Amino acid sequence: MVDYLVVGLGLAGITFCEVLEENRKTFKVISDDSQQASQVAGGLYNPVILKRFTMAWKAKQQLLDAKPFYQNLEKKLGVIIDNELPVLRKFASIEEQNLWFEASDRPDLDYFLSTKLHPNKNPAIDAPHCFGEVKYTGRIDTAALVRSYSSYLKNRDLLLEESLDFDAISITNETVSYKNETAKNLVFACGFGLKQDPYFGYLPLNGTKGELLVIHAPEYRENNVIKSSVFTIPMENDRYLVGATYKWKDKTNLPTEESKNELLEKLTTFLKCDFEVVDHVAGIRPTVVDRRPLVGRHPEHKNLYVLNGFGSRGVMIGPYASKQLFDYIEKESELDPEMDIQRFTKKYYSK
Ligand SMILES: Cc1cc2nc3c(=O)[nH]c(=O)nc-3n(C[C@H](O)[C@H](O)[C@H](O)COP(=O)(O)OP(=O)(O)OC[C@H]3O[C@@H](n4cnc5c(N)ncnc54)[C@H](O)[C@@H]3O)c2cc1C
Repeated sequence: MVDYLVVGLGLAGITFCEVLEENRKTFKVISDDSQQASQVAGGLYNPVILKRFTMAWKAKQQLLDAKPFYQNLEKKLGVIIDNELPVLRKFASIEEQNLWFEASDRPDLDYFLSTKLHPNKNPAIDAPHCFGEVKYTGRIDTAALVRSYSSYLKNRDLLLEESLDFDAISITNETVSYKNETAKNLVFACGFGLKQDPYFGYLPLNGTKGELLVIHAPEYRENNVIKSSVFTIPMENDRYLVGATYKWKDKTNLPTEESKNELLEKLTTFLKCDFEVVDHVAGIRPTVVDRRPLVGRHPEHKNLYVLNGFGSRGVMIGPYASKQLFDYIEKESELDPEMDIQRFTKKYYSK
């Protein structure tokens, strides 16, 4: 008997397991590779929405929680996953520069938006209107995190690598059993896999496909994240991530020629040096109709929970939402109502 069964080992599953370990709860994880979002993500943590120069939802609080969280994980797993990198937003015009300076006066944004205009010093970039810098940003290497967290669990015999067989779940008032495992609670952290879940499939998760390229560009020599019509994110050995696309119809994890062309077209509007595409990946972001996470208890089964809907900001939302869910289950704290799935209870009874 363990305290928890957790289904899914992306950012949601990992951040929840970490909260369980911190609180000395026992658990087992069941996960397959059917969803890829956490393995392909750009991994940026950036509290500012760079299209409109506004703060993302509760982003300052989330960032304050996330930084020590990932630093502790680095120590525990013995890997470097947090790369602090300034984000430089390329301005398309003088008007945009003015909007940036207006925004940098607003509460919270004043903390993150530098008021210094950065002239372009990189001959490989076309940016006549300079850049604005977002401070305290960076990248979590989410692929490395998933890899090392899986090994960490496997070495302790805490990971069942298989697709959940929903028919093998049996629920009583006090326990949830799955094959040979019995737990007090079960948490579904399945990303877009929620669509197959007979318990939480009623929740309005729509899913947004995203694709990224990896390019090799030795002449680019850029140490910052550059945000223009696409992001470029520096990696090791002259490689850069380029992304990402947003598509609402295709729900497969397969890279497409169409998205590759779209990314290349946008990239070459500002990148003026030679490069070669060396990789191309795709995944489905678990996005929700109202752009808020899906967290909470099943309307009928009190020992079934969901942790999902991290959208395009899983790195920052993960630690925040996981702690909220844990405190809700174990300490009877109130959930942030904006992410509590109670907002969709009517959908459950009308299904
Ligand atoms: C191209 C792209 C770029 C992105 N860039 C960023 C970024 O820069 N910053 C950021 O913060 N976020 C980014 N995101 C979003 C981020 O990836 C997601 O918010 C986050 O990874 C979601 O994590 P998750 O654990 O909920 O889902 P997932 O990562 O999809 O994990 C779900 C897990 O559950 C498993 N699973 C599902 N169903 C079952 C089942 N039936 N049985 C067993 N296991 C199951 C899956 O295989 C998977 O292991 C990006 C996403 C994409 C696609």
